[in-house]
Amino acid sequence: MRTSIRRGNLPRQLNSSAIRSPLVRCSARLPARCVVPTISSQIQTRTFFGLFDKKATPQVSEPVPPLLSQDDLFHPLSQSPFPALKEKADRIKSVSLCPTSFEKHHERVRPAFDCPDCGWPTHKNQERWEEGKEEHKEYCGRLREVNEDEHDIRSGRPMTEFENMPEEQPYESAISFASWDTMFYTRNFLSIDSDRSVRHVSKILTYPMTIAGVLHQNGPFTSGNGRITREGRRSMAAIHSVLHLPPGATEGTVPEKPSPPVRLFLLGARAESTLPPHLWAQLCWLFPRTNFNIYFVGPEVGLPLVGAEQRQKKDYAFSEEAGWGAPSYTLNYNQRLSLTSIRAPYEQIHDQFGPFDPYTDVFFAFSPGFGFPHQPLLEKITKGGKGQMTFDRAEEINKSEAGATAEEAANSYSPNEIEETDPNATSKDVPYAPPETLVQAQTTWRKPLQQILSTKCPFFFTAFSPLDLQRDVSALFGTNPPSASSPGSPVREFPDYVALPTGPIEPIEGVTDEFELVLTPGVNPFGSLKWEIAEWDVRVGVKTNWGTWGIRGKKYDVVNGRDRV
Ligand SMILES: [Zn+2]
Repeated sequence: MRTSIRRGNLPRQLNSSAIRSPLVRCSARLPARCVVPTISSQIQTRTFFGLFDKKATPQVSEPVPPLLSQDDLFHPLSQSPFPALKEKADRIKSVSLCPTSFEKHHERVRPAFDCPDCGWPTHKNQERWEEGKEEHKEYCGRLREVNEDEHDIRSGRPMTEFENMPEEQPYESAISFASWDTMFYTRNFLSIDSDRSVRHVSKILTYPMTIAGVLHQNGPFTSGNGRITREGRRSMAAIHSVLHLPPGATEGTVPEKPSPPVRLFLLGARAESTLPPHLWAQLCWLFPRTNFNIYFVGPEVGLPLVGAEQRQKKDYAFSEEAGWGAPSYTLNYNQRLSLTSIRAPYEQIHDQFGPFDPYTDVFFAFSPGFGFPHQPLLEKITKGGKGQMTFDRAEEINKSEAGATAEEAANSYSPNEIEETDPNATSKDVPYAPPETLVQAQTTWRKPLQQILSTKCPFFFTAFSPLDLQRDVSALFGTNPPSASSPGSPVREFPDYVALPTGPIEPIEGVTDEFELVLTPGVNPFGSLKWEIAEWDVRVGVKTNWGTWGIRGKKYDVVNGRDRV
């Protein structure tokens, strides 16, 4: 299906700073305790919580990475030519356990041996690796894939798949939203000629394409395949009437009349707010009739990574406090697309966005973690700086985020997993969830959920794994959460001390009984295809935006007197 036509040396559209933070997670969870690789040859070794460490200063001069040829992408991480990958191996060796030693010999020992097939530190020594080989086979293939992908992204080769993204869609050619492959093909992505390229591109396009897939009338979610519910049809019909031509009409027969912009609210936004704007502009090419105003809102939104000079530009507005009463900026990318970042908890500025209109307003939250334990630490961090954050400070924090929904989930809780290694260490920077912890739907998300449900506009979510999805769904419905490990698998998504809920949570006032499903929970064809591997247990892998679902505030229709109870 894919073409392998390559264009010549057109200017690269992605620069390393622009793609520093290709992925996002929603602020409300943020168990980021990790160093996150980025889609960039620039090597990042920053931790979110580490941003308060003195040592956490940006590297100023990066060594030019050696060029790796395409047949030389596999290296054991601990011997990688790239320091970031070596450091990753070091962290795995210091926080994970040898599974064979632990499960068969009841020894808690760190892995010191690199599997020769995948290059990840997996076992205590060669003997234990041999012993656990059968079990490891299950994970070895994907670890090898990630190993090569990580070396490829840093190899210094021209990343043609990130360049020359198609813009205008020829009028006569419809886009297929069935999968990444068919979308790339029908959209004429010219430089995607391998599965690896598809994985790289899916990782940065998953945010705009997830939105496009949900909103487009030819998208993968329909009432025919059961994903759009009966109630959801009303919401989607309203949105489609603004996004698309009426049935049977053509551009020639429809009078040109300005339609209101579609407003997309991305809550708990982090790195998606620093995606290069041209990636968001893909939405304009997919919906050629529509103007979009995209709002990134949350305590962790990225404020622009630009210098003072660029800030002076006319099309670029930055305000410390003005306008929204919170640090913010607006970029008018073109006449049809504006991007606004507002660094504030959503509930603080909800009223400023009103009135709301279910025809033109749509909410998204990428991996909100509704069913994930609330983390007071996060609140401390995000609220501590409130009202005092200067631009430069904001910028500095943003640089250090480099975060990603699934990546952070995969890497969360890495260090300090084993407290006994240093019993005297104070672990106050560890996002430790006591057993009685509330889930985030009851805490950070409670008010925004209430506010958004009251607008009757649709609110869509993603999740990074089947368990993550089930956990979020159960939190809002007040039903039993999934058990912590997949059926038949000894592998747990999070360490035991992450107190995931084990029973239904209490109903949440204004939420639990106040919504209807619009989009049933299930797989998202536009999730990232890249595995994100957990450092605390490399057997754990998740994918950004793996699943998606959506809800809307209940509509109480006017009923006849005799129908009233
Ligand atoms: Zn292996």
